[in-house]
Amino acid sequence: MAVREELLRNIRSVEPYVPGEQPQHKVVKLNTNENPYSPAPGVERVLKEMDTDRFRLYPDPTADELVGSLADYYGVGKDQVFVGVGSDDVISMCFLTFFNSDFPILFPDITYSFYKVWAELYRIPYHCPELDENFKIVKEDYYAENGGIIFPNPNAPTAIYEDLEFVEDILKQNRNSIVIVDEAYIDFAGRSAMELIDKYDNLIVTQTFSKARSMAGMRIGYAISNPDLIRCLNDVKYSFNSYTMNQTALACGVEAVEDKAYFEEGVRKIVETREWAKEELRKLGFVFPDTKANFIFARHPEVDANELFQALKENNIFVRHWNAPRIDQYLRITIGTREEMATLFDFLRTYI
Ligand code: PMP
Repeated sequence: MAVREELLRNIRSVEPYVPGEQPQHKVVKLNTNENPYSPAPGVERVLKEMDTDRFRLYPDPTADELVGSLADYYGVGKDQVFVGVGSDDVISMCFLTFFNSDFPILFPDITYSFYKVWAELYRIPYHCPELDENFKIVKEDYYAENGGIIFPNPNAPTAIYEDLEFVEDILKQNRNSIVIVDEAYIDFAGRSAMELIDKYDNLIVTQTFSKARSMAGMRIGYAISNPDLIRCLNDVKYSFNSYTMNQTALACGVEAVEDKAYFEEGVRKIVETREWAKEELRKLGFVFPDTKANFIFARHPEVDANELFQALKENNIFVRHWNAPRIDQYLRITIGTREEMATLFDFLRTYI
């Protein structure tokens, strides 16, 4: 029997997710902002020594050990940390938990694409203020009445970082709305809004192990906030559903947090390669906004971005390109190893 049209209209649906192309053979993969280096060495050890008999048992639904490690690392209480299966999961949980007003939530028109996906899936009204002509967030646009705010800092795909004063202005103007600062790329950028947690009870900061900690495949993300908001997130999360982290990820996550020296060295290497890559791109005539993430959002005034994207792909170099208004002449290039970036520049020198 055909499903009635009216019924179909009421079923939650969103545009299907089109995954970024996954290469089938060895390529220079600079298209999904992953980290080119291995996770902390202790992660491998944990995996090797793992007692698989433990898998008979359910994981700790409170993720107590990982929550404790993160709390120690940031100098906050355990009741201020919520962990989930990647920051996608954590942010999705925040949308479900906090964004339920009749007023639209606000996020930039050019930003992380999943905000729109969740807003539509959960039927949350939303409004997307335009970035200015330099791709910067206009903070005054976020002073309008709203049902909540989310923006990444640094923003993606622009890689532009706003300082704490900017974030604080938005927090001050929105005492009655939840403001989520998505800090997926903060480790490559500057000061985190976590410094403001005790000052603003409407602030949630989310971060991830997928970028600076090289563990995108493990799916670990977290939110830091005040105990009241963290309690709400835990109330919404069920015990053993897909939002619960598995034992392996919990154990590896603890190990990664504890190796501060390895983490700092990894970030230093990527930032150093990024600064060198910016110089090389400039020499080739590319222009890009001030870049503070592990990727560069660049355009060449004389080269069509889509054609360049295709040419790179044919030469086994994967970057990201969008056929979208305002950004269709830009490429987003993840910072890989120095060798990977050199391969990219060798190709660009022959092409441009
Ligand atoms: N926020 C931003 C801005 C991102 O770019 C991404 C992923 N690339 C995420 C959140 C989600 O990351 P993850 O789920 O891997 O933690």
